[in-house]
Amino acid sequence: MEYVASVAEVLVVKTVVVGNGFGPVVLGLMDTFGRQKQNELQKITEETEKEEAELNKKREKSVTAVEARLLLAYDRIRMNYKNGLAVVPVERDSCGGCFNMIPPQRQSDIRLRKKMTVCEHCGRILIDSELNDSIEI
Ligand SMILES: [Zn+2]
Repeated sequence: MEYVASVAEVLVVKTVVVGNGFGPVVLGLMDTFGRQKQNELQKITEETEKEEAELNKKREKSVTAVEARLLLAYDRIRMNYKNGLAVVPVERDSCGGCFNMIPPQRQSDIRLRKKMTVCEHCGRILIDSELNDSIEI
């Protein structure tokens, strides 16, 4: 009985020593690390918000040049995807959004740029990679 009690006592003492001795050091390190990460995150958030505001301004201007029914279709597609990309290029014979293969006939339709072509798998609007590369946002 006495032995069991003393083992328990040793455990308690050890816990207290570890708690008092290293606990604050570990917490201090975690705190410093956490603060650094928080500062980095705040900087990134501020930059992203600035970029978003600029892009929204550009969008407001561009929107006036687009037919209402196309804009509606575009916004509807955009809302369906997490990354918000409604227009994607054809890359390596595949849809840049869902990566499914695009049949050759469809690809030549896309290259002709006569009508809007959507991916038959994900519904995103497809454009040829040349057009995609020529667009600067
Ligand atoms: Zn797709």
